[in-house]
Amino acid sequence: MTKRLYYDSSEMHEFDSVVEEVAPSSPEQSRPAIILRETAFYPASGGQVHDTGWLTPDAGERLRVTEVADAEDGRIVHYLEASARLPLAGTAVHGSVDGERRRDHMQQHTGQHVLSAAFVELYQMPTVSFHMGEDYCSIDLAAPSVSSEQIAGAEKRANQVVFENRPVRIRYVSRAEAEKIGLRKLPPAEHDELRLVEVADFDLSACGGTHVSATGQIGSIVLRKSERVRQGTRVEFVCGERAVRLARRDYSALSEAAALFSSQLWDVPDQIRKNVEESKLVRKQKEDALDQLAELMAFDALHNQAETNGRKIVVRAFSDRDIGFAKLFAQKVTRAGTPAIALVASSVDPPGLVFAQTQAGLSGATADMGALLKQVLSSVGGRGGGSRDFAQGGVPAGCKVEQLLQQAAGTIGN
Ligand SMILES: [Zn+2]
Repeated sequence: MTKRLYYDSSEMHEFDSVVEEVAPSSPEQSRPAIILRETAFYPASGGQVHDTGWLTPDAGERLRVTEVADAEDGRIVHYLEASARLPLAGTAVHGSVDGERRRDHMQQHTGQHVLSAAFVELYQMPTVSFHMGEDYCSIDLAAPSVSSEQIAGAEKRANQVVFENRPVRIRYVSRAEAEKIGLRKLPPAEHDELRLVEVADFDLSACGGTHVSATGQIGSIVLRKSERVRQGTRVEFVCGERAVRLARRDYSALSEAAALFSSQLWDVPDQIRKNVEESKLVRKQKEDALDQLAELMAFDALHNQAETNGRKIVVRAFSDRDIGFAKLFAQKVTRAGTPAIALVASSVDPPGLVFAQTQAGLSGATADMGALLKQVLSSVGGRGGGSRDFAQGGVPAGCKVEQLLQQAAGTIGN
């Protein structure tokens, strides 16, 4: 088993060791790997993500550690960049853990202990799992729901514990002792000796991760969103420097929004609400105006069109109105009370055709709009269809829609 130096000091970022085993890259494993006698590198486990850093062999160039993992036999595997020139087993190496990344993990992880304990203390909601991502962390609580008051309450209590700068201590106890003390969470029975992490007079739990030495170093704990998940409720949070970074990002986004409205930050929700209402109203006014315009244009077209075989055939290609308006115009033409056929097109992207006729019942010769449209579309490779009285379809871009309308009008016959 690899000796884990981080167990006794989370602050140790530099260490000396000896290479125990070297595994060059192979078809099964794209990256070379190194196992050391002891290491301060933390492998991904218990929800905490792995460290990165450097290994410098005696008289060799330094090697980038990109990932660290726990092997099943209790050893820790350091994965290196594919191009690494590997040292021989037995070589002395100096290890350097990426300190900034580690500090971030310590802040998030210790913050999680405090937050989980706050949810138990205030609302008896135990944490069932912990996840640490690149941007945010989350805990899953065994609770069907968590109210926004409870979110705010747990956040307040957790930060109180941060501000009190309570010591965070590590100690080792036997399993029997641990059962007597009453831990927040007892791990499955694997080892006889348990590593306990204690936030003074607030939380005691078994954990193998890296932690800060006093709660003040967590900086702050900010809860973000909560959502229902299979095993309960997931609460997202960020601690320390991440909290500052996210607050800065939120502030930038909010200030940009406020500048667009020339308003104060806290007025942005009201401004957005007002804008949404206004755009709804404008959309409605636009729809009404288009409806009236289509009606007037249809009236005008019918007025100027002579009747043949008991109905009027209106042919119109729009180059400045979309297919939605073409459809509206066709409906107005065919529902004006006079038997009529509307052969309408729009060349505005996406270009298309609308063929409609006044419903049977009114006098006048009729045709089959669906069949007519299919016939016209087949000549240009368009798609669409419809019923006997109404059909609509799209044509390829650049298609001469006027010619298609003439073709359709010719088929019906005047
Ligand atoms: Zn922990």
